[in-house]
Amino acid sequence: AKENGRNSYQFFTPELNERAQTRLTLETELRRALLRDEFSLHFQPQFDLASGRLVGAEALLRWQHPDRGMIPPDQFIPIAEETGLILPIGAWVLRHACSLAQTWRNEGLQDMSIAVNISALQVRRDILETTVLDALGNSGLPAHLLELEVTESALMANQDEATSTLAAIHTLGVKLAIDDFGTGYSSLAYLKRFKLDKLKIDRTFVRGLPEDAEDAHLTEAIIGIAHHMGMAVVAEGIETEAQAAFLTHLKCDLAQGYLYAKPLKPEAFRQLLIKLGDH
Ligand code: C2E
Ligand code: CA
Ligand code: CA
Ligand code: CA
Repeated sequence: AKENGRNSYQFFTPELNERAQTRLTLETELRRALLRDEFSLHFQPQFDLASGRLVGAEALLRWQHPDRGMIPPDQFIPIAEETGLILPIGAWVLRHACSLAQTWRNEGLQDMSIAVNISALQVRRDILETTVLDALGNSGLPAHLLELEVTESALMANQDEATSTLAAIHTLGVKLAIDDFGTGYSSLAYLKRFKLDKLKIDRTFVRGLPEDAEDAHLTEAIIGIAHHMGMAVVAEGIETEAQAAFLTHLKCDLAQGYLYAKPLKPEAFRQLLIKLGDH
């Protein structure tokens, strides 16, 4: 017993203790963040490669912590997922994104689609359908202008639930995109199983373009498969003109990346819409 006691005592090294403490603090603060309105959305524009027109935006979550400043999503979304807080946070994101997009439409700014990231935990029929209907109903945004971005792993986590959930979402007229394509399980079977409208090529493939022959061939193959299955292709993480030119040459449909714009605060994004609508 003494031996065990020693071993379990070792578990609480100062480092581990500190990490556990940080998580606990983050969880408490995340709960508070929802109540105190510390979340906001940034919008990164998506452009049609052939015409250069702005056709949509991805909504990206930001957390302005009162003491620690801006905390990037990669640092708090995993904890939100583990604690289930991603459900109320995800609902907030959907509501907020739809309502801003509709506000811009009401101002007469050009129509565009708005893409929202969805966590695996949200891919449950009872939850997602209600949340999406609520966000659309509350804002008045037409369903076809909303797009949900789901990752491969979210689809694979619970395939039966995902199939019926996404079918229900599709019936509403909401669009579906597969995010970070090629980085997860990469079973092509699910492309047939789920009715997806768009495929987002992860930026780990885009990074090596056009020089890296493997990335170039993979990208070309992915675009070919997607088009054969009736999906539009978005390339993410485009940072150079050479990448954009190469993707245009491969008939990639849409482009998103720092070359065009970083994720923008709502007001900056609105100004961009006004500017682009001027000519
Ligand atoms: P993601 O969905 O793959 O989003 C794209 C990420 O790439 C964003 O990071 C964006 O700022 C970044 N990015 C865009 N263009 C470029 C580029 O040209 N170069 C580089 N290096 N990066 C670029 P961000 O905003 O930090 O978001 C990180 C991840 O957090 C997202 O990856 C997504 O998985 C997650 N996330 C963000 N917002 C939400 C949300 O509302 N709900 C959920 N569940 N996850 C979210
Ligand atoms: Ca995304
Ligand atoms: Ca992505
Ligand atoms: Ca990602």
